Amino acid sequence: MTASDKLVVGSPEDILRRAAAVPEYSGFPTLDELADRFAELERQHPELVSSRRIGTSRLGDPLRMYSIGDGSLSHLIVGGVHPNEPIGSWTAVHLLEQLIRDPGLGKALDAAWHIVPCIDPDGMRLNEGWFAKPGDRTAYFADFYRPAGDEQVEWTFPFDYKNAYFDRMMPETLALARAIDWTQPDLYVPLHNGEMGGVYYYLTRPVPELYEMLHRVPEALGLPLDKGEPEAGHLIELAPAIFTTGSLEEVYDWTESLGLDPFPEGSGGESSSAYAQQYGTLSLIAELPYWLHPDADDTTEIDESYGDLLKRTGRTLADSGAQLVELLERAQPHLTLNSPFMRASSRFVPMLVSSGEMSISRGEQTEAQRPATRAELFGCVEHLHMFRLRFGGMLLRALRAEATSGSASAELRRIADVLGETYESWSRESEDPRIQSIPVSKLVGVQYGAILAGAAHLAGVQ
Ligand SMILES: [Zn+2]
Repeated sequence: MTASDKLVVGSPEDILRRAAAVPEYSGFPTLDELADRFAELERQHPELVSSRRIGTSRLGDPLRMYSIGDGSLSHLIVGGVHPNEPIGSWTAVHLLEQLIRDPGLGKALDAAWHIVPCIDPDGMRLNEGWFAKPGDRTAYFADFYRPAGDEQVEWTFPFDYKNAYFDRMMPETLALARAIDWTQPDLYVPLHNGEMGGVYYYLTRPVPELYEMLHRVPEALGLPLDKGEPEAGHLIELAPAIFTTGSLEEVYDWTESLGLDPFPEGSGGESSSAYAQQYGTLSLIAELPYWLHPDADDTTEIDESYGDLLKRTGRTLADSGAQLVELLERAQPHLTLNSPFMRASSRFVPMLVSSGEMSISRGEQTEAQRPATRAELFGCVEHLHMFRLRFGGMLLRALRAEATSGSASAELRRIADVLGETYESWSRESEDPRIQSIPVSKLVGVQYGAILAGAAHLAGVQ
């Protein structure tokens, strides 16, 4: 027996050991591989694992939820809420495998666990092109797909506030609502991930007892916390790199206060976490990057003011957005396909302009008139690269799909060529030898460790 075997299951040291023991994975599983893996675990362990169908995707894939354990708490873990975020695919597999192999873990955490491997299979399939090469930024952006706001499972729950009204739930959203209603979770973890920078978290309510572990897990695996820009200015920081999810009403009011349209055409609705709150659910989101950069957590002050930085990068983003808007408008009369890429591009491309304008407007506020930090500089510049490559890349995929299907006119092919060149130059501008990719096992380890920490806290394990 080794010393680690004597640790109290679910104690901080035990969780850190488990987080560090995640096996190395090569790439991310395709949808079919993920579904097969879960089906196989159920087939091999019928006495422990059961599953039920919770719905059907728009293109006809069955959506399943796997359950294990009969403790007094109920936890729901859902992958693929954003189909471009597949770290959770391995986290879901690993969690189920560990609960099968280690009955002591299930017993200590005293919960019934419910795991949905992927709630948006249609969307995830459109990202599979880069899954075998995680860490390769060029492959990632070239095969990146993120649905338009009103086609994201995470953000298509009903919303009714001031001039905003949304109730167009997709079949996948209805399936997730059903899973939440059935399980009434104590802990709900939609498996998201970020892209670049460091680790940060969202909680639906302050849980001070959890903060130390949420910091220790990435630290133990050598991943930094993200101390740069929060994703939106209205978010409340509970502790370093831990934020409240905030409410959509707050986002609406905050956007309105900046003089921008708080509910533009194509907006989605509420989040799944907000929907789960009717059951008193604690939602925990661990945002993990694929890539690291030494500047991401460097709080050294730089010569530029934060306001000037926001205005400068905001202006470049708005200008790039305007270029894409123009190409999209020129392409419009020639389009024949209603592809997910085109639906997403038409929604996101104008957002480059509005996001840039929002940064400019924030840059003019009094509180921005202070020196910026290196982390903020990095955050703003990366935000610019990410927006251009993600959404410029999806528009390019949309236009090239027309060419592949044999429906592109000569004019449309010319527009695709122009965009292809612009995209290449943006891609070159984003290259940075200081960017490092993170092994998948560490990313899964942090997400897995955060889930265990949340579950241990709710189970009262010390
Ligand atoms: Zn996400």
